[in-house]
Formats: sequence, C-alpha cells, structure tokens
Amino acid sequence: MIVSVSSGKGGAGKTTISTSLFLSYEGKVAIFDCDVEEPDVHLFLKPEIEDEKSVYVEVPELIKNKCDGCHKCAEICEYNAIMKLKGSVLIFEDLCHSCGGCFRVCPRDALLRKKKEIGKIRYGTVGKGKKFVEGKLNIGGTLTTHLIKEMLKEVSSPITVVDGPPGSSCPSVSIMEKSDYIIFVVEATPYGISDFKRIFMVAEKFNKEMGIVINKISGDITELKDFCADKGIEILLEIPFDLEIAKSTSRGENLIEINPGFLKEFKRIWDVIIGGTHGK
Ligand code: SF4
Ligand code: SF4
Repeated sequence: MIVSVSSGKGGAGKTTISTSLFLSYEGKVAIFDCDVEEPDVHLFLKPEIEDEKSVYVEVPELIKNKCDGCHKCAEICEYNAIMKLKGSVLIFEDLCHSCGGCFRVCPRDALLRKKKEIGKIRYGTVGKGKKFVEGKLNIGGTLTTHLIKEMLKEVSSPITVVDGPPGSSCPSVSIMEKSDYIIFVVEATPYGISDFKRIFMVAEKFNKEMGIVINKISGDITELKDFCADKGIEILLEIPFDLEIAKSTSRGENLIEINPGFLKEFKRIWDVIIGGTHGK
C-alpha cells in the first residue's frame, strides 16, 4: 500500500507529516523521499545509509560519418533537443527526455545510445524494520518524473509512505497515480488553501482515498472545512500554529520528538487509512 503525502505549495509541513507518519507505524514500513529536487526527509530521520546507485537514461550521440543530414531525428523530437544543421544535426543532451523517438526514425543508424546519469537513489534504515529510500536529481537535471518512476518501481514493503514534491505538476501526478491513499498537508493561509484546491482538482480525477492535515492554523478555517465536507475529504488532523513547533522542525526534529502526544494522533490516522487494523 502506498500512502503519499503531498502539498499544493512548499513549506506547508509535508515532510514533518510524512516522517511522523512513518515513525508512528507499528511494523514493517518504508519511506520514499521522492521530492528529488530537494530531498530533506534524511534531516528528520537521520537514516543509516547502506547503499547507493545511479539512475541513467539513454540519450543520442551522433555518429557523424553515418549521418546524411535527413533531419528525421530533429523533426520527431518534441523537446527541441536536436537542431537542424546543413547536412547534419546538433544534439543538446540536456534537453533530451529520452523518449527514444530519434533512434527509431534514423534511417542510417547514425545515433549511438549513450548512457547519461540523471540522479542517484540512496538506501538505508531508520531502526529495525523501517526502510529509507531517497532520490536525488543531479544539479541542473530536468528528468524529475523519470527518476521518481524508477524509484516507485522498487516499492516492496506492505506499507510505503511517499514524500512527494509540492505542487500539481507531472512529478506529483506520477505519484498520485500510484498511490492508494493521498494525504494533503494544507497550510491554513489563503495561499495555502488556494494551492490545495488546485492540487485537489488534479487528484480527484484519480478517484483515490484522500485526507488532509491542516497545519499552522491561526485563524478561521470554516471555508476550508466546508470545502472538505462538500468534497468528502476526511480531515485527519488539525495543528495550530506554534512558534516552538516551527523552531523545532527547522532544526530537523519531527513532531513526535517535539511532542510525544502526537504519537497517538498519528496512530489514529493509520487506523483511518488502513481501516482500524493498525497494530492488531
Ligand atoms: S530521445 Fe527523444 S527527446 Fe531525446 S533527442 Fe531523441 S527524440 Fe529528442
Ligand atoms: S535521422 Fe539519422 S541520418 Fe538523419 S539527420 Fe538524424 S542522425 Fe542524421
């Protein structure tokens, strides 16, 4: 079962919630940090890293003496990664999305399949039975979704918490598609609520079980609650704004460390997600 933790915007408290959820689960559980452009789950969990591997894609490299300049490769490339030159082509491998189209259309076998590293996946543990997996995109890399999809192929634990990237772009959508339950962390501010509604509009197309955690509450949230009631979204937890929590999480402490009372709350959330069978 994949339980993903998403947010409409950065800074809503997504990692605070995903790590607390992970730590509160009784039994075998994994956490995948799929916020690959800026992974920070390790700061909260301090895992013991045991292994690492590189993730590669195939990009074309021109074999000049075979190319006759027909430009079929440039014409099929949707990402403008191949530019037409008189009698040849120029390849910008940083723009290549590794779709494979150019290899298929080249009539002269003039494109070599070159391996290009896009990022790394690290593997570790956080105490007994708790697995940690983190993806990190290379600096300047653009194939975020590609790396996330490679990571999700490796989900094997009965319960996996996925910390996804913020926002409603392709990387987030690729995680929502694979999730069994989606938790949205919503910052209780006008911007936070507006971003949540935008990501929810995308998520509801997948017809998944969903719940929200409302974070940093300092004012009236009636409108947000009405929206959830109208859409049938379960409110899993409400966390008031607290300066001490903000300071502690910025130091990499998780909610359960800060206030052990949260352990009961997160266990209750697991009961909601897995139907009251948690720890039984
Ligand atoms: S593999 Fe696809 S994206 Fe990359 S250069 Fe070829 S056609 Fe363009
Ligand atoms: S399709 Fe092949 S032969 Fe034609 S321009 Fe591209 S690399 Fe050269």
